[in-house]
Amino acid sequence: MATVGFIGLGIMGRPMLKNLLKAGHTVIAFDCNPAALDECVAAGALRGASNSDIGARTDMIVTMLPDGPQVEAAVLGAGGVLEGAKAGTLIIDMSSINPLVSQQVAMACAAKGVDFIDAPVSGGEPKAIDGTLAIMVGGSETAFQKAEPLLKLMGSSALLTGPVGAGNTTKLANQIMVACNIAAMSEALVLTTRCGLDPEVVFNAVKGGLAGSTVLNAKAPMLIARNFKAGFKIKLHQKDLRNALQTAEANNVVLPLTALVQQMLSSLMADGKGDLDHSAIATVIEGLSHTEVKKPS
Ligand code: NAD
Repeated sequence: MATVGFIGLGIMGRPMLKNLLKAGHTVIAFDCNPAALDECVAAGALRGASNSDIGARTDMIVTMLPDGPQVEAAVLGAGGVLEGAKAGTLIIDMSSINPLVSQQVAMACAAKGVDFIDAPVSGGEPKAIDGTLAIMVGGSETAFQKAEPLLKLMGSSALLTGPVGAGNTTKLANQIMVACNIAAMSEALVLTTRCGLDPEVVFNAVKGGLAGSTVLNAKAPMLIARNFKAGFKIKLHQKDLRNALQTAEANNVVLPLTALVQQMLSSLMADGKGDLDHSAIATVIEGLSHTEVKKPS
């Protein structure tokens, strides 16, 4: 069993790290939040002193950070992984970031003989705990083969989708489909509620047909119960759609639906609701028609 470095011990990183420990790996962990690091050390991880310390003590490192700027800081910045890392080290970045940033970080790593792959995930905290995430990988075939046994401890699928950046491009596709699906579900349930129907009956009637989806099954019950406790936070989804729109612009592509849903997320952010679950997109659509999705009284 290899010694693995793990940087970024948030909602997702902590359970993912625990699955590596459970499989028998020695894990050296670091996070700039001492409380998160303490929890992982209590679970059996070794305490890293800094990102560069992780780079110096391991040659396979997982990062699970919020966005591109944090990945750049943790890997390339002062006191970052590259300061300590030896040639031949593999960095597996599982954060959801702009694919262009993945490519830039990979190039800086390559200049020091360090391999880098992007391997963002879908499935949220429950699947991070179960070790059943869907993992979308960008990188060389050789680096993927080296990482695959580790990825399989954290996910039920790990698919190589193309060169570095392709994992995050695939993740952007995932996030576009999820956001637009939540918005479409919200419009449908606002309409049927306003027409006097019970949203739960409507949900049960359509879920087995073509409109049925994992998103519908997860988010319609939350909306009907008025439960917007995250799950996946509005502020993270706003970050993902921002990355999608930047990637679209860089590639001369127009994403009208994504841009519209991004405005809804911005409205929620402006309203101080960035920590709510992304199913709260529905509340913006409800507000436009003064109709709350709920059982008829
Ligand atoms: P989080 O904010 O809970 O955790 C991020 C951690 O990174 C924090 O503990 C923070 O202290 C640490 N950190 C930030 N900068 C650092 C640095 N320079 N050095 C060391 N540590 C640093 O985020 P999360 O929910 O765990 O998400 C991580 C990534 O996974 C994000 O890109 C997110 O979009 C993606 N993701 C999240 C979910 C979800 O449901 N939460 C699902 C799929 C994908």
